[in-house]
Amino acid sequence: MGKLVIFSAPSGAGKSTIVNYLLSQNLNLQFSISATSRLPRGTEQHGVEYYFHSPQEFVDKIANDEFLEYEEVYKDCFYGTLKAEVQRILDNGGNVIFDVDVVGGCNIKNHYGDKALSVFIEPPSIDALRNRLEKRATDSPEVIVSRIAKAEFEMTFASRFDVVIVNDNLEEAKAKALKAVTDFLSK
Ligand code: ADP
Ligand code: 5GP
Repeated sequence: MGKLVIFSAPSGAGKSTIVNYLLSQNLNLQFSISATSRLPRGTEQHGVEYYFHSPQEFVDKIANDEFLEYEEVYKDCFYGTLKAEVQRILDNGGNVIFDVDVVGGCNIKNHYGDKALSVFIEPPSIDALRNRLEKRATDSPEVIVSRIAKAEFEMTFASRFDVVIVNDNLEEAKAKALKAVTDFLSK
């Protein structure tokens, strides 16, 4: 059976950048596409970055017990990992890589135990996080304020993860993530 690698971080810490780097490294990792009730941004497509659903469709999936975990990550914005998505990747013979919020990451780790490696990507500071979100320019000022407020709470979860990587210098953070994942997959 394939293994599971979980990446969590406060929004803007650089988790997607590091996950995309790992996906390019021939580790037989396949991205777990989450479901969300938020609207697509920019060029995002259904079935690529996310499975986009209306709030009602999302609630129906909760009622049908289709989620391994789900969270209302931001107000009225649900995100969740579909059981069928994880099964699809494992049936394909792949290792699963998750990009989920901090609470979701802890829930997936608790579910899979030693079959999963959980990695927390930590920003060097809250100010750095704010700068990155402003530079990324994908969120409104109000959304950035709510992401920063949540980040302060999420930072307190770092010690629950198997590995913590501070993403100050991106190249160093990528190298540390690659080593942690390679070591885990070869065990
Ligand atoms: P997340 O997925 O955690 O929300 P992203 O991967 O989208 O974060 O990164 C947030 C922004 O910060 C992006 O614009 C990314 O290019 C940038 N970034 C990532 N790592 C660093 C770093 N070490 N130093 C400066 N900017 C970074
Ligand atoms: P974004 O809107 O920037 O794509 O994602 C917002 C947050 O939701 C990120 O922290 C991302 O990791 C998290 N997220 C994405 N998919 C899931 C999921 O399936 N479950 C949980 N709990 N969080 C998710």
